[in-house]
Amino acid sequence: MSTIPTDINWSSLPFGYLKTDYNIRAYYRDGRWSKFEKSTDETIPVHIAATALHYGQSCFEGLKAFRCRDGKIRLFRPEENAKRLILSANGIMMQPVPKEIFIEACKEVVLINEKYVPPFMSGASFYLRPILYGSGGEVGVKPSKEYTFMVFGGPVGPYFKTGFKPMPMQLIKDFDRAAPLGTGMFKVGGNYAASLRASERAHGEGFNTVLFTDAKDHKFIDEAGPANFFAIKGNRYITPDSHSILRSITNMTLQQIALDLGMEVERRHIAIDELAEFEEIGACGTAAVITPVSRMVNRSNNNEYIYTMGGEAGPKTQKLYDILTGIQSGIIEDKYGWMVEV
Ligand SMILES: *Cc1c(COP(=O)(O)O)cnc(C)c1O
Repeated sequence: MSTIPTDINWSSLPFGYLKTDYNIRAYYRDGRWSKFEKSTDETIPVHIAATALHYGQSCFEGLKAFRCRDGKIRLFRPEENAKRLILSANGIMMQPVPKEIFIEACKEVVLINEKYVPPFMSGASFYLRPILYGSGGEVGVKPSKEYTFMVFGGPVGPYFKTGFKPMPMQLIKDFDRAAPLGTGMFKVGGNYAASLRASERAHGEGFNTVLFTDAKDHKFIDEAGPANFFAIKGNRYITPDSHSILRSITNMTLQQIALDLGMEVERRHIAIDELAEFEEIGACGTAAVITPVSRMVNRSNNNEYIYTMGGEAGPKTQKLYDILTGIQSGIIEDKYGWMVEV
């Protein structure tokens, strides 16, 4: 057992980068993946003509490890992240990372940084960031012949400073994060670059996050920048179906939990006007887990939708949150085998 660093205050960790002891790298060259290597270096040498730098050949994943009640450390649904990284890689013509390499690398990063995995039920977790990028030099627009896969990680607190507290969200129509037939369903860096102007403006206008609408007609709800959208209406869990949103693993999980709670799950187009009919709404993703929304403002016409429950999350949102985080910390039975021991 390694000793826990005494200078980390687990309960007040931000969601941010914190240096740990090791990260992992593997290289695709001459048609094969190298064995992965450990590194203590926080930096990487990059070819000046790397396709990642010029043409955005870069994608990533985000997943968490938890110290569970039995003292073991487990990753949450790493197979799903492995599969999604393959989809993203194929989506922008990169060499995919085989599932086994992905999962081994994730487990290894947790094990070699074990002392940074927050204690059971501390509210913090160990966040892993796998990255795949085109590292070979090209000047013409074409896929790289070489790729680098890295995984780093560190302890994080909640993504939004308020934690599991309702926050205001801004619906926008004048920026898109992805084109209708573009790369919205892949977890590529370029989508995030495209979302920055809108999200920074929203912060400046007093909102924690933005909700993008469909890029073709701007009539339907798509997703928040780094998180999917869901709504509760009666006994229904409703989440958008769209070509340009990322299939959130958290959202998939919440849909299953909702079904198990006897709720109906609808994945369909959601018109903006329906915001008036929902009882609870929220954003979900690995980083944020669930972020309940207190107030939605449509920036294009100033329509406002209020979802206050005395400053707390609504009852269904709370239930979903309790079950998801309960499974992750090992206090609720993991009947689907979502948790994978490192
Ligand atoms: C990563 C991401 C999410 C959340 O997905 P999870 O698998 O739940 O972490 C949602 N939307 C976008 C655009 C993302 O990149």
